Amino acid sequence: MTRECGRVYNFSAGPAVLPEEVLKIAADEMMNYQNSGMSVMEMSHRSKTYDNIIKTAEKDLRELMNIPDNYKVLFLQGGAHLQFSMVPINLLKADGTGVADYIVTGQWAKKAYSEAQKYGKINKIATSEDKTFSYIPDCSNLPISEDAEYIYICENNTIYGTKFHTLPNTKGKTLVADMSSCFLSEPVDVTKYGLIYAGVQKNVGPAGVQIVIIREDLIREDLPAWCPTMLKYKTHADNDSLYNTPPAYGIYVCGLVFKWLKKMGGLEKMKEINVKKAKILYDFLDNSKLFKGTVEKESRSLMNVPFVTGDEALDKKFIEEAAKEGLVQLKGHRTVGGMRASIYNAMPIEGVEALVEFMKKFEKENA
Ligand SMILES: *Cc1c(COP(=O)(O)O)cnc(C)c1O
Repeated sequence: MTRECGRVYNFSAGPAVLPEEVLKIAADEMMNYQNSGMSVMEMSHRSKTYDNIIKTAEKDLRELMNIPDNYKVLFLQGGAHLQFSMVPINLLKADGTGVADYIVTGQWAKKAYSEAQKYGKINKIATSEDKTFSYIPDCSNLPISEDAEYIYICENNTIYGTKFHTLPNTKGKTLVADMSSCFLSEPVDVTKYGLIYAGVQKNVGPAGVQIVIIREDLIREDLPAWCPTMLKYKTHADNDSLYNTPPAYGIYVCGLVFKWLKKMGGLEKMKEINVKKAKILYDFLDNSKLFKGTVEKESRSLMNVPFVTGDEALDKKFIEEAAKEGLVQLKGHRTVGGMRASIYNAMPIEGVEALVEFMKKFEKENA
């Protein structure tokens, strides 16, 4: 299979595939961004041109997600991992007696839960670890702590391929969500959350940018004295994400992706496409004699689809032969094994169809 520019179908979980249209615009604008005579990479983040880039990116994101005015949008660095720390540092009481409840549905939530321990009393109120995180637990009536300052979830579990299709009943408490791998894949009611964050390298842009959407009343000033200036949401909120040099080029590419999403028809339309794409793969898995999905049906992610043959040697052979056909990065996360196809917004439907065709052929040859 040969595609334009020798490109492959890239099923990486992240950094991941980007829309080819966006890559082409970035390439066209590389040497001379809109008559500035320079690349966005070479431009002062204090320039008028750059100010327009970051402001437009924020405006387009607000439009796509319908973000209310009482929420700040921050473009930060440090990956989702830094949010594992920033969330408890900024939301918990400064004296270390703060309380938060975590729902642990995978490695990322588990890491966030363990990091938060440093800053307060952190409870694990539900987990799906008993069945290798292959489902989302019932969160309709959890033992929410009376004094919890927030309830934490990882909304789409990139490694295990599960997604919260119903948000937990937080009993009025603030919901915080790591949306790294489902950000902008479907419409979201922002008002249901106090804080949303996402590393953009999964579904939006190049690694290095972290988007935080935070309700203004959660931006506190009374933080612990030891808290570094750079780790305060307030620092970045007060300076429109330009307190220091932001990940300027990454934000520019995110902005191009926001424009692309608008052109595609917005998040309703993206969801429709994502449902259709995922269905092709899940329908095949449900009927295959060789391949099996590893997740309970009701918990399935639209973005990350893990599957196995049940035979490690055969999994390895599949991954190798698929790569020769231009279907790459299908290896499951090192903690799970097997295969995982990440089918983010930018994965064309043709890529999923090509994968399923290849799986059919492989199944026949290895029956
Ligand atoms: C990838 C991922 C992370 C980790 O992201 P880094 O940018 O490497 O820190 C955290 N949470 C989720 C849901 C992820 O998919």
